Amino acid sequence: MKIVFLGTSAAVPTRERNTVSIYIMTTNGAYLFDAGEGLQKQLQIAGLNPIKIKAVFISHMHFDHVLGLPGLLMTMALMNRKEKLTVVGTRKLFQFLKMFNKEFYMDLTFEVEFIEAHQGSVYKNKEIEVLAFPTVHSTESYAYRLFEHKLKRKFHPEKALELGIPRGPLWNKLQLGESIIINGKTIKPEMVSDPPPAPLSVSISGDTAYFEQLIEFFKGSDIIIHESTFSRELANKASEMLHSTSEQAAIVALRSGAKLLALYHFSERYKDVSYLEEEARKIFPNTVAAKDFMCIKIEDNDINVFNNINECE
Ligand SMILES: [Zn+2]
Ligand SMILES: [Zn+2]
Repeated sequence: MKIVFLGTSAAVPTRERNTVSIYIMTTNGAYLFDAGEGLQKQLQIAGLNPIKIKAVFISHMHFDHVLGLPGLLMTMALMNRKEKLTVVGTRKLFQFLKMFNKEFYMDLTFEVEFIEAHQGSVYKNKEIEVLAFPTVHSTESYAYRLFEHKLKRKFHPEKALELGIPRGPLWNKLQLGESIIINGKTIKPEMVSDPPPAPLSVSISGDTAYFEQLIEFFKGSDIIIHESTFSRELANKASEMLHSTSEQAAIVALRSGAKLLALYHFSERYKDVSYLEEEARKIFPNTVAAKDFMCIKIEDNDINVFNNINECE
């Protein structure tokens, strides 16, 4: 799995940072979380293909999270997309897209399946499931948690060979959890393999004030991507505006037992966010401050952070 940050600024873009959007690449296609203005240009710079996006999850209806979506849909239509696109968000998002479709003649070449965000499972296919949880913000807003289920069991070739099962398609069936019959004998997957590894999970806060229940929702995540609009000195402003500080993001990561915390959604007042990163690291050492085009690669149990997507092969 690869996570690419396409925007990391709160409210307004800066020279270095676009408004927020996160692109997650899995073996089962790509998933986009929020769609800030300028998203298409960011996809181009990152060399990412919008057609690969299977579903878009919008946290809430503030401009910095959604203005990139209509243009993205239009481009997908110009690319003659045929595959259905799932869009998850609040009812206001649905009205917003309906208005665009009617007033701007979007003339889409593909079906948009709209799912209204609610607490619980909002998207599911064989490998990917996304859960939503309402956060505390100035408008209806959701955090999301993506699970990537591993379908393949851990296979022991020596056991298979011992039982006289030749290398080839039968191994694949057993790895995928199917029983096979060879020489009149039934071989069950557990005879030659162990259960698949635990699913990977990535949690994304969207915009939120600090609140306890989010920790429960994020519990056991491999990676938490948490908003960090303000530093600790502005904790009062953060709670007034229903945003979080870097320190609060670190408390969430620590108490959820995450392996890595990536901070994003920084107020434009911070030209250098290393101070926010340091503040969070005092509580949760394995913290990185995300920047545009940063890429997090997760392979087996290894998590590596690359400053630029080009290094993330
Ligand atoms: Zn925001
Ligand atoms: Zn907001």
